[in-house]
Amino acid sequence: MPNERALMASNDLNQLLRSLPSVEEVINSTEVQELISLLPHDIIVAAVREELDETRRAIRTSHADRQYAQQLRETVAARSAQRATKLLKPSLRRVINAAGVIIHTNLGRSALAEEAVHAVQEAARSYSTLEYNTDTLSRGSRHTHCEQLICALTGAEAAIAVNNNAAAVMMILSEFVAEHEAIISRGELVEIGGSFRMPDIMSLSHAFMVEVGTTNKTHPSDYQRAITDNTSMLLKVHTSNYRLIGFTESVDSKELKRIAQEASAKRGEDHPIGDILVYEDLGSGALLSLPGFGCEGEPTAGEALKRGCDLVSFSGDKLLGGPQAGIIIGSKKLIARLKSNPLARALRLDKMTLAALEATLRLYLEPERARREIPTLRMLEANAEKVRDDADYLAKLLQQKLPADCVFIDVVEEVSRAGGGALPMRDIPTFAVRLNFVRGNAQDCERFLVQECPVPIVGRIKQESLFFDVRTLLSRQEADEISQQLIRYFQEDMK
Ligand SMILES: *Cc1c(COP(=O)(O)O)cnc(C)c1O
Repeated sequence: MPNERALMASNDLNQLLRSLPSVEEVINSTEVQELISLLPHDIIVAAVREELDETRRAIRTSHADRQYAQQLRETVAARSAQRATKLLKPSLRRVINAAGVIIHTNLGRSALAEEAVHAVQEAARSYSTLEYNTDTLSRGSRHTHCEQLICALTGAEAAIAVNNNAAAVMMILSEFVAEHEAIISRGELVEIGGSFRMPDIMSLSHAFMVEVGTTNKTHPSDYQRAITDNTSMLLKVHTSNYRLIGFTESVDSKELKRIAQEASAKRGEDHPIGDILVYEDLGSGALLSLPGFGCEGEPTAGEALKRGCDLVSFSGDKLLGGPQAGIIIGSKKLIARLKSNPLARALRLDKMTLAALEATLRLYLEPERARREIPTLRMLEANAEKVRDDADYLAKLLQQKLPADCVFIDVVEEVSRAGGGALPMRDIPTFAVRLNFVRGNAQDCERFLVQECPVPIVGRIKQESLFFDVRTLLSRQEADEISQQLIRYFQEDMK
């Protein structure tokens, strides 16, 4: 027997659904009419339809809560208007990073140096020498703009820059390994932040992956035994976002080169594959050694090449501090093959990125200047005294401006991270401004700072407190902005 109550609920529900306004009615509401001059009619109609569909779905699933369903019905016009106006507002926006992660992948990794920003503007605003050779007054190549600089900075013979390091890995494997074997240690089969998995990239480029060793230990003999007539590469991958500690062993690229040479020498001159290559995917790939980071620092790209790699690749927007790119260095002969691979066309850099990369690389010609002007390097190397000063500045500002009975403010020692898979084991000591809430709370304030501020502010929550790590702020002006928005938060909370 049907439950009488359920029947009533279902009658209620149908009645509610029937009482929803029509598309026409919603469009004629004052909320939506205000948008008529701002947006194309079709877009408004589509937004209203979507909102009505969603409202119907929500009412059907909320029959236990009649009041809520009623509320949905009454606010459908306002929500339709909101949905449509989303299109008018920028989605990719500036953010203030007070989270203390320097190469924060979710927040765009590296902020560019002013020189690079200027170069991007010039390239964007006007025609450029992108593929025009002014010496010969004829067609040029976009690869020339950065190649000489990369070679000068790494000691490489030749170089090419592509869309990102994932693209670089794929291109190298497709060109030199496809249908052949690449040998890789089980300790280096990494996954790097969302969807870059070494085994997947391998199969995408039709490379046969030969895993050797164990998760914690791989010996030279593991590689030696795995080499066959079909082997074309020994591949080394930087373990970026994790470290094996304890009972571990891996084979460095110098040793890999020795193994490759020995095996290649046994192959005759007319071997169909030729010599076995050693390639290292460095991940972050610094161009300068970071003195403050001692032996935990990252090897520079030039050092990796000198150790004996035939090819090295690394990202443009990690420790290098430039735009998204993947840089490959090696011999003239190998890089020439990559340049003529069809993937080079599909994965090429656009003019704005090239402009930013060239300008960033040029700063490295004067290492001190690079350290001063490239935000990623500046943040990594900022000393405790400077960071403490910045934290004191923000704390004082907040102590002066925020109502004393609402929040306790102090400066505490904290830890920043390099991020982007660089220096994963390194705690970078920093100072953060800590807010302990008497009114409101850390979660609520965090939401306000992200969702209700013109420029979202990303801090960090720990034990019911909200922290602002000043190491990742780009300027004192950002500290001023944090203060202004916190004033607003407490004002709204008082109402
Ligand atoms: C980050 C990283 C990549 C991917 O580089 P993108 O520039 O993000 O494409 C590949 N390999 C390693 C070891 C990395 O750390």
